[in-house]
Formats: sequence, structure tokens, C-alpha cells
Amino acid sequence: MYKKIFKIIKKYDSIVIARHIGVDPDAMASQVGLRDAILNTFPKKQVYAVGNGGGKFSYLGKLDHYDGDGKKTLLIILDTPDKKRVDCSDVDQFEYKIKIDHHPFVEKFCDMELVNDKSSSTCELIMQMMYQTRLKPTKEVMEKLYLGLVSDTNRFMFNNSTSFTFGIVSQVLKDYQLDISNLYSDLYLRPLSEVRLQGYMGQNMKVTENGVGYIKITEDVLNDFQVDVASGGNLINNFNYIEEVLVWMAITEDIKNEIIKINIRSRGPIINTIAEKYNGGGHKLASGAKVMTMDEADCLIRDLDDACKKYLESLK
Ligand code: AMP
Repeated sequence: MYKKIFKIIKKYDSIVIARHIGVDPDAMASQVGLRDAILNTFPKKQVYAVGNGGGKFSYLGKLDHYDGDGKKTLLIILDTPDKKRVDCSDVDQFEYKIKIDHHPFVEKFCDMELVNDKSSSTCELIMQMMYQTRLKPTKEVMEKLYLGLVSDTNRFMFNNSTSFTFGIVSQVLKDYQLDISNLYSDLYLRPLSEVRLQGYMGQNMKVTENGVGYIKITEDVLNDFQVDVASGGNLINNFNYIEEVLVWMAITEDIKNEIIKINIRSRGPIINTIAEKYNGGGHKLASGAKVMTMDEADCLIRDLDDACKKYLESLK
């Protein structure tokens, strides 16, 4: 499949690489890494990595602006299971579309799709593609892909880190001599305001009868701590391994966009099918949702509590 994708890449002089809305390091590193590897292999091609919000991950590189009409242009969509979450206007204007993703399958909307939900990250898939085709990645490309993979596995702590993951990472470290401690400072450096918000989240987390830990972060809290709406979500992985908590969530008021953004994580019960009922989705143990009111958020908490109850019963 990678070889087929390579053949199509070779054929097109104009290529746009997109990913999901609500950019994260795996989505951005995979698109920037793939763009730079294509340019390193075929310097005459026009390759654009597009989407909003990349500024906060500037250590992964710069995004591009594409204002063409999609004619004679290949669109590669990374890390996105469904059309409505692609961060690129008018997906259907492009002559040919390829999807490469590691989320559970949601819908087919591209001419060619490579979906492997056993893969830790889209960056892992792109690394694999680098080894199976004649694409020529630079050391910088591999550094970016490594960061995306590390971010999506939460430093290899999630159960999406397989023997394949460790194998390919080992190969990359050997072949490209990555300085990982230097790279981590890019990924994990954060402002003191966010650390203070983390303290607030721990202090104010409520826990339901069956182990759903949730914290509501209102606009006032965001202003008090001088952090942006993404901050609660950025911190969500730091609340793993709390004895009393099986599923945990940050519920953040986003007044500007008139929604409430919810980040959910689990260390047992499957949550993506529940998130789907609340304008969301994602992985079995790491999902997101969007609701309009706190009442809806409370319904989601109850549904997750039910899932925890069933999960605990199944363990008896
Ligand atoms: P996050 O909590 O934003 O880090 O997202 C965790 C996972 O859920 C990622 O794979 C996201 O792509 C996915 N996700 C987040 N929000 C949504 C949403 N509203 N709809 C579908 N998938 C989502």
C-alpha cells in the first residue's frame, strides 16, 4: 500500500497535505514530516502542509497557505477518520485524495485509504512509509515524526505502543542518531500558568460513584490563570493513574466559539462510542467531544459513569 501511495505522490507536481481540526503534535508532525520528505526527494514539486492553529507547535515547523483550485492536485489527509474533521476547505475540489490514519475507521471519503488503528500514531505510519518507499527523510523529518509519536503514546505509556512501535523507534534512533532529551524540551516545555492550572484541576476534580473524574474549567477560571481554552486539554494526560479514577475529563468553556470542549481519557472503559453521541469521537481510550451546555456535559458524565459501572462489574 505504501508503494502505491508513493507512486501517486510521484505522479503529482502539486500536493496538499491536510489533517484534523484542533491540531495536535501527531497530526502536525506527520504532515510537516511528510511534506519535508517529499520535498527532499522531489525538490521541484509544490507541497503544502495546511490547516489552522499550527503556531503553538512552531517547533515542528511552519505551515503553508494553499489557494489553488485543487485541479491536478493530490490531497493527502493525515490522522483524520471523517470528512467533517478535515482542516481544509472543500476537500472534494481535489483531483485525487489519499487518507492515512490510525483512528478507528469512521467513513471512506478518499480514493485510496490506509487505515491502521493498531498503529500508535500517524507519525508511526509515516515512519513506516519512509522505510518502505524511496522517500528520503532527513534527520529533522525523523525528529518531528518521533515527537508526534511520543506525544500520541504519552511517552510510550498508552497501550497503543506495540512491539512494532518500539521496533521502528529503535531503528530510527539508530539510523538518525536522535538527541531525544533535547527534543523533549520542545514537547514538554510549558508556561508556569499552565502548571498552576494543573494544580487547580487536581484540587477541584470531582469524582462520581463509579470513578469518572471531571473538572469544569469556566471562562472565569481561564482568565484567572491567564491560560487559553486549549490548556485544560493539554494537561489531560497528566491525570492518569489516579487510584479512584477510571475515566477522566476536562470540560472547558469556549465562549468565543460558543461551545464546551471536552477531553476524555480512560484506563479501562471504552469511551469513543460514548463521545460519538456528543459530537465527538476518537480512540477507544482517548477521545474528545463538543457540547453546547453544561447540562449536556452532565449527561455525558452520567453515560461515562454507567460505562465505568459496567466495566467494574465485568472485572468481578
Ligand atoms: P484530544 O482530547 O483533543 O486530545 O483528542 C483525543 C482524540 O479524540 C484525538 O484522536 C482526536 O482526534 C479525537 N477527537 C477530539 N475531539 C473530537 C471530536 N469533537 N470529534 C471526533 N474526534 C475527536
